Amino acid sequence: MDVSNFVRFSFKHLMVKPVRFTVATVASWLTKIKSDRLIYNQYSKFLRDCYRNPDRVAWVPFVYPVEILYSMNLLPFTTEVFGSNYARVPSLIPDAFEKAFQVGLSADSCSFHHASVGILSQNKHPKARIVLGGTPTGCEDQYHTLRLLAKMFKTKYYAIDIPRNYSGEKEKFEYFKDELYGLIEFCEKETGFVFEKEELKKINSRYREVYQKYEKIMELKADIPTKLFEGHFTAISSVLVDFVGSLEKVEKYFDKAMKDFNYLNFPSMGDTSKRIAWIGHPIVPLRKLQYFLAERDAFIGYQEFMESTVAPPSKRRDPIEEIAEKYLSAYSNVPIEKRLEVIKERLSKHRYDGIVYMTSWGCHQLNSTASYIVENLKEEYPVVLIDSDSCNIKNVGEEQVKMRLEALLELIEQR
Ligand code: SF4
Repeated sequence: MDVSNFVRFSFKHLMVKPVRFTVATVASWLTKIKSDRLIYNQYSKFLRDCYRNPDRVAWVPFVYPVEILYSMNLLPFTTEVFGSNYARVPSLIPDAFEKAFQVGLSADSCSFHHASVGILSQNKHPKARIVLGGTPTGCEDQYHTLRLLAKMFKTKYYAIDIPRNYSGEKEKFEYFKDELYGLIEFCEKETGFVFEKEELKKINSRYREVYQKYEKIMELKADIPTKLFEGHFTAISSVLVDFVGSLEKVEKYFDKAMKDFNYLNFPSMGDTSKRIAWIGHPIVPLRKLQYFLAERDAFIGYQEFMESTVAPPSKRRDPIEEIAEKYLSAYSNVPIEKRLEVIKERLSKHRYDGIVYMTSWGCHQLNSTASYIVENLKEEYPVVLIDSDSCNIKNVGEEQVKMRLEALLELIEQR
């Protein structure tokens, strides 16, 4: 048995219940960034809860009204988020992407969906009591992917229809509200857990406060040039998406993250560093990209992906209406002009020297809007378009990505 097979084999056995949780917890201590350590810990606790309470687990897609599920005491397990976590350590489950093909996921789907289907189909994660999908908020593949998973595991499936291009229309709002009530009815019927309106009110109101801290973190990230990248740009949104029902954890995470910024245990870069805005997809598998940029005195001050943490809606009497407004207004669900407005508003708050727009394999949603956004930003900023893969390292083309970034830095210097 060669070394990599040995490690894989050991890992498989180590991850057998009940030691899985202990391993995940211990592994979280290997990172030196305190807030990252906390989020890994929260993840392992969440996984433990899912294994211990299979009757409460609902598989859901990314950017989904999980608050409703939390108010029912269910555990929403976001399939793409766990797929993207896998993208960070692909050697652990090397054939996940291939497995997704074998079980019938179209080659046209994005790598996050391949990773999540590949992993879930191999029973590597907690099973679901129900599977929930939807037409796009964050992503258009989610309806098919979740339906495929439900079919594979012979689990009850329910999908909500989320109207696109929402800009405040009353009929779209009322329609979606009804869809949410349909979701509640299905969950109550299939799980026996009851929807608690008062509980949802509390969750929504605390979320409003938590979101302010999130905004503060976004400011700090753009303000303080550091080499921080991964935890503060990918985990943060996962925190809000996955743990919105456990706001104490989220609050704790933000406090820790702010300390990480404020006491910087990391070598800080200078005020003259080149600040880059990264639009489109994040690049999850290239975990050390921040060091590559730091060597060239550059850092990423804004990632559009962070807008996946949907801003809370204005206060309403009915908490379901608040949820309807919130998800209809998700950045990937509004007209493209509105999305551009949000990006420009973020860019106006700091000096940005250059822009990256990254497309990702199989993502029709964000790829199809790339040229429009680039066209609208290139007058004001040097821009490069990078075609890569946000999740599958085999499609990333690391050297290509670095060459494109070098080209951007050169453009910036020539200005
Ligand atoms: S990359 Fe695109 S298709 Fe894939 S999960 Fe994200 S939004 Fe959906």
